Amino acid sequence: MTKIKTRQRRRRVLITEILACVIFLIIVTGIIRTSVSTEAKNLYEHNNSKKINRDNDNLKNAPSTDKDTEWNLILVNSSHKLDKSYVESIPLTQLKNGQSIDSRCYPELQQMMDDCRAQGYSPIICSSYRTHEKQQELFNQQVQVYMNDGMDRQKAEAKTAKSVAVPGTSEHELGLAVDITDIAEQKIVSGMEEQPVQQWLMKNCWKYGFILRYPEDKADITGIVYEPWHYRYVGKEAAKYIYDKQITLEEYCQKFCF
Ligand SMILES: [Zn+2]
Repeated sequence: MTKIKTRQRRRRVLITEILACVIFLIIVTGIIRTSVSTEAKNLYEHNNSKKINRDNDNLKNAPSTDKDTEWNLILVNSSHKLDKSYVESIPLTQLKNGQSIDSRCYPELQQMMDDCRAQGYSPIICSSYRTHEKQQELFNQQVQVYMNDGMDRQKAEAKTAKSVAVPGTSEHELGLAVDITDIAEQKIVSGMEEQPVQQWLMKNCWKYGFILRYPEDKADITGIVYEPWHYRYVGKEAAKYIYDKQITLEEYCQKFCF
């Protein structure tokens, strides 16, 4: 009898020990899980706050854009084609000489021209808004010139694209670009940067929200050769930033627009 009782007691003790072990394991697993998930949560929050701080830093560094950021900073180049529906909605204002410009940059363009004249210069806008058809016509004309020189069409088109934007990729179709020359020399020729009109414009255009869009030695970025007559409206703050840093609109957009 005593032996049986002893065996039963041992069995009870064993079961109690096993139960205690199971409960202990459950508790330990629970603690580990909680601590791991807390650590993961902390890590996520830490990384996320780093990202938010980084984003805030970028925003802090970015010049605040004009009220309507999108329209004045639209990038148009060989890899950024114009949106047809947007083109149809551009509000246009006609200038005295019959040229047109996006109405939203008209007051600043007018002010820039007035101030330039007040300094004794004689600037004239020889090209501004162009329809898609007009751009096509100009492009075709230049292609023909090269073909007349004996170039085949493919080469002629490739060479033309370096100085006349392919239709659909011209800022002139955007309504925010103007070609300005001296009234005495309205034909676009090389060496125009020497004109006093251009020197005044290159130095002051940013004050009116314009930039010299195709600077010297930046053709590898813009895709267009040096054009010391082509000015593009981007808004005053972006223009100041671009002027101060001596960068292109492509570089500005890479940093702040995309
Ligand atoms: Zn132009």
